[in-house]
Amino acid sequence: MNSIISYLLLYNQFLISTIRQLIMFIVKTIPLNDFKDNHFSPKYQKFTVDALPIIKKPEKLNYKILLSEYQSKNGKELKPVKSRGGKSVPSDAICPRCGALHNYLYDNNGGRGQLLCKICNFRFDKDKENFSSNTLICPYCGCALLKKKSRKFFNIHKCVNMKCPFYLDSLKKLSPEELEEFKNNKYRFKLHYIYRELTIDFFKVDLSSMPKGSFSLIFRKFPHHVMGLCLTYHVNLGLSTRATTRAL
Ligand SMILES: [Zn+2]
Ligand SMILES: [Zn+2]
Repeated sequence: MNSIISYLLLYNQFLISTIRQLIMFIVKTIPLNDFKDNHFSPKYQKFTVDALPIIKKPEKLNYKILLSEYQSKNGKELKPVKSRGGKSVPSDAICPRCGALHNYLYDNNGGRGQLLCKICNFRFDKDKENFSSNTLICPYCGCALLKKKSRKFFNIHKCVNMKCPFYLDSLKKLSPEELEEFKNNKYRFKLHYIYRELTIDFFKVDLSSMPKGSFSLIFRKFPHHVMGLCLTYHVNLGLSTRATTRAL
């Protein structure tokens, strides 16, 4: 009995030393940094999850105070906007930041709805129904994100700052061939910081507007994490619906 134990102990030591040698081999010959860089290559950026933007509430201002400040600073009053090319800003438009009336607002994009306040320099969309005065800020460079696209269920906000560390870092990670491809097909790469703002509440979906067979995510019998498990088994692990049922 004793001899077996001492033999096993010896064997154990042999295994430990072999493992140590293997680890040394891995550390010396497989460069971990390269692996990390490849893993985060901008080629695969579309599959990574970006940090959330910073939400900033612009300070509310009062146009009357701003106008009198302008007057005492410049010795003359700030004149209202002269309407250009016959197109004037609708008379019910008001700057959401400082409350300036329509005569102090510029049409900022040729009648397509964006207005610019002459008093506080705030840009806003007149026809945007759910106007929120929140600004989305890039978590990497602190610049305001630009709304680039509106899809059915989400809006895409992009950091267009060419000096943003996120963008410069993504550029640096490109291989020479990828850089060449990027110059020709910019749309294929996601190098800028992007935030997708979902405009739909998945828990309050109007089922009548959805395709037949859709169902709500509100369950009376089960907690939400059961649905999460179902999706993980069925989508991520690729189990059949029958196997998913059995797994649950
Ligand atoms: Zn304003
Ligand atoms: Zn940025």
